[in-house]
Amino acid sequence: MVYLMSTSIRYGAIEAGGTKVICGWADEKGELLETTRIDTGLPEEVIPEVTQFFLSVSESGTIAPAGIGVGTFGPVELDADNASYGSILRTPKPGWEGANWVAPLKTLFPGVPVVVETDVNAAAIAEMRWGAARWIEDLVYITIGTGIGAGIITNGKPIHGLTHPEVGHMHIPRTEEDRKAFAGHCPFHGDCLEGLAAGPAIEARWSEPAESLPSSHRAWGPVADAIAWACVNLIFTVSPRRIIIGGGVSQAPGLFPKIRERVVKNMAGYVDRPEVTDYIDEYIVPPELGQEAGIKGAIALVLPEE
Ligand code: ADP
Ligand code: ZN
Repeated sequence: MVYLMSTSIRYGAIEAGGTKVICGWADEKGELLETTRIDTGLPEEVIPEVTQFFLSVSESGTIAPAGIGVGTFGPVELDADNASYGSILRTPKPGWEGANWVAPLKTLFPGVPVVVETDVNAAAIAEMRWGAARWIEDLVYITIGTGIGAGIITNGKPIHGLTHPEVGHMHIPRTEEDRKAFAGHCPFHGDCLEGLAAGPAIEARWSEPAESLPSSHRAWGPVADAIAWACVNLIFTVSPRRIIIGGGVSQAPGLFPKIRERVVKNMAGYVDRPEVTDYIDEYIVPPELGQEAGIKGAIALVLPEE
């Protein structure tokens, strides 16, 4: 086992998403040295490709990772004391139920810590360490793309609990008129947050991809309403000091001002803090790490604090 002789410190990272799995290799400062992209096919194909990546980088440099962080789509078992730590739980995603990230990596690198988080918690951790929430230890990171998820950090730690939060499936108050116009697109709940504001929901309602709807289109009012209600509910329940909103849909021009305005209106003055009354533009913000948040978050799971 030649890699044990190495002195360089390296960290492995995996960002597992619905369409692609990114594997990375970082130095002792957390800088990415190398990444690879694998299409998210079936786990029988993906997981061997992942282990092959780590095997090849570690062998070529005779380097063992000091830890491997995994930020994955869920639902995923996050209880490190559970034998199925790192397993994908019941999911409609074909073939992935029961697939496990940890065991193959442990077999490859015995004794190397493997830390698993949800993709959104990992992204939230990265934004807290290097991005839009530096020095802020109470934050929510929401991603609005093909689905909707949120990482909730309190006192610098992601919330787990019974499983992990499923903010995308939060129920959203709607007008009678809007309810009549659209039943929602979530196969489980109809008009939950994801059923109203994720990209596929917007497309289902207006028969056009979200990115092709101009900012003046009437699609955006109900979308901003749904996202704003989710923000308000999160402010009232977990009291974040900042909310970061990312994902493809968040890039729709003009969406942030619509969300911020509705958040202030819907809180009805109940939270009397300048952050939400006077500085809402700095309270609800886009991510700073962009496409790198996921993989950087996976590194942050195992990279010691400076
Ligand atoms: P994923 O969720 O698959 O990781 P994204 O975060 O890029 O990927 O989200 C993809 C979704 O975002 C698609 O439904 C797409 O229609 C929507 N989307 C992408 N870009 C934009 C845009 N500029 N404006 C509105 N919607 C967008
Ligand atoms: Zn739902």
